[in-house]
Amino acid sequence: MKKTLKLKPSVIKTIKIVGILIAAVIAIFVFYHQEKTALKQLGYTDAAISNIFKKWKVGEVKEIKENKTVNAAFESASYKDENLSVYQKVKYQNQKHLIQNINTLTSKKYKPSEISMILEHGNDLDVTNFAKRKKVKYLEQFFSVSYAKLKNYDRYVDYYDKEREDAETTVLRVNMDFDKEDYTDYLEISDFNENVLVNKHRQLTSEYVPKNLKNVPADLVKTKGDKIQVVSKVLTAFKLMKEAAEKEDRHLLINSGYRSYQDQEEITATYLDIYGQKYVDNYVAKAGFSEHQTGMSIDIASADTDVFLESDEYDWLMENAYLYGFILRYPKSKEEITGYKCEAWHYRYVGKKIAKYIHDNNITYDEYYIEFLDTE
Ligand SMILES: [Zn+2]
Repeated sequence: MKKTLKLKPSVIKTIKIVGILIAAVIAIFVFYHQEKTALKQLGYTDAAISNIFKKWKVGEVKEIKENKTVNAAFESASYKDENLSVYQKVKYQNQKHLIQNINTLTSKKYKPSEISMILEHGNDLDVTNFAKRKKVKYLEQFFSVSYAKLKNYDRYVDYYDKEREDAETTVLRVNMDFDKEDYTDYLEISDFNENVLVNKHRQLTSEYVPKNLKNVPADLVKTKGDKIQVVSKVLTAFKLMKEAAEKEDRHLLINSGYRSYQDQEEITATYLDIYGQKYVDNYVAKAGFSEHQTGMSIDIASADTDVFLESDEYDWLMENAYLYGFILRYPKSKEEITGYKCEAWHYRYVGKKIAKYIHDNNITYDEYYIEFLDTE
């Protein structure tokens, strides 16, 4: 007799439930996988995605779409639900305590646009320090200037109160250390950089030695027997400039170039011997403060006369030097800004692009550097 397999009703019920459960698990898995792929395509990282799921924010994040700050927020242990709309509006910066600082600044009642502004004007440490203080008054005023620095905020306020300049001038002058005494509390620079700015607030250390120094050929040197060195590209540019000048019967020579830190020290020692400490303190720059240590500066001379100011070469350079990448570093009309009496012969090589900008806008290299090159 054939036996038909007959299951008990309770067993059938169990099989059905198990079947439904398996289907559900598969459905959830497929759904999870699809959502994860969608978030990945929006640029979210695995670490962020895992937290987006944990916090049940998949729908909201998909609506926000791609957003680096939101991604960083979900990656961070400092994430706060109530600040999600703030994260969404704040411009991302690659800073270690980004989310923590956004939270703190939000709690101090800064708007997302203000927080973006704060983050843009400093590094992680600057922002962290700034976030600790009470809400400040003149945020927008100073930080709408692109090169304003968060860490200088108090100095801007002090300078503004004292000098009553407009906000942009205030930022520029403080970044140039106009609120500090000459040769005190200065910045020390050791790494070679063609664009380096040297002035009474910025010293080159004894380790600062330019790369690619070249000897200036004897026929380009004003005083016979002088051994002069400059950075290679400065020499190349000078030769081109000299050639052009010759065509107009102007005869350029070089009087001075690279001066090492040790050379400067020796000069100071010599003056000390002859004139004493008081004279040296008052009139002789400390070693490291000469732009000649950059190897990018030259003192230009006329082949025809020793009185450079009266020479045709002086006039020619005033009109044409920038075309070859040279600028008059200490002009008469800018003594207050450069901090130096006019030196009609002292030219700095900055390249054609920068030289043209400085020429066209009638500014100094100090101002150009602070506006466009200063990253300290
Ligand atoms: Zn000079």
